[in-house]
Amino acid sequence: MSFSVGRFAPTTSGPAHPGTLLAALLCWLDARSRGGRVVLRLEDLDPSRCRPEYAQAMVEALAWLGLDWDGLETQSDATDRHAQQLDALAERGRLYPCACSRQTLRAVGTRARDGSFRYPGTCRSRSLPVGGWRSVTEALRVRLPAGRVEIEDAGGDDLGADPVADTGDPVVRRRDGAMAYHLASVVDDAAAGVTDVVRGRDLAPSTAVQVSLQRLLDLPTPRYRHHLLLLEARDQKLAKFHGSVGWPVLREIYSGPELCGLLAHAAGLTEEPAPVRPESLLADFDWANVRTQDRPLLWRSQRLVLG
Ligand SMILES: [Zn+2]
Repeated sequence: MSFSVGRFAPTTSGPAHPGTLLAALLCWLDARSRGGRVVLRLEDLDPSRCRPEYAQAMVEALAWLGLDWDGLETQSDATDRHAQQLDALAERGRLYPCACSRQTLRAVGTRARDGSFRYPGTCRSRSLPVGGWRSVTEALRVRLPAGRVEIEDAGGDDLGADPVADTGDPVVRRRDGAMAYHLASVVDDAAAGVTDVVRGRDLAPSTAVQVSLQRLLDLPTPRYRHHLLLLEARDQKLAKFHGSVGWPVLREIYSGPELCGLLAHAAGLTEEPAPVRPESLLADFDWANVRTQDRPLLWRSQRLVLG
């Protein structure tokens, strides 16, 4: 049994929904079934979307589901650590200010694989002002090395990509001063000694960018494993479960073990959606039994119905 550290890192921009809770369950089972540690990291860096009450409710929802953690971190407590790594990128000549608006990027009009608009590198030749990155009032991007990053998912999928060609250089500090997702995520993973990142398939396209950043910063690359998503009906089609129903509603209808049983069954871990505690799933947990296809989970007449 190899030593492993996992992490569950939800963004605290709204109530936990079934997709969040399934991701938490799979992450926890992955670590604990191997005798590893698993920490909860609350990603609250986006001041326009995150609220302390969502963070508090996230902690409560996960406990209600029956999950416990070997540590709890709040990402906004670690901004000094993020700033140090911006210093490191600046020293290596990799940071540059970018004044391009979202409208500009949309006008260029190339979609990246993650659905965002590709950054065409308009400001790539700019350098930092004499006052350093802290004096910049625009967004800051990192000049990533060109070329393909080879990486394989623990489940066997090829995650290799050329981040510069695909998404373009990522923003590492936003114009409003908030540290951006990729930078904070890789820096905090390394600080916590994370060896295994388990997360939803929607984040798979961002792996190559994150590995490229790790290499620039001399940070280790963890193993990545991406899992199925729960889908909900939205605009006449199925989309990633986003919160048509949140935990404040779910807790009125289900007990923690009831919802845990439903999620475990949705993921293919159990034959029946019978109530279960997460620790009862540990002995038989095996990724070979986890369904790989995304799964519709519809909200019908105040119940979750598996599709
Ligand atoms: Zn720009």
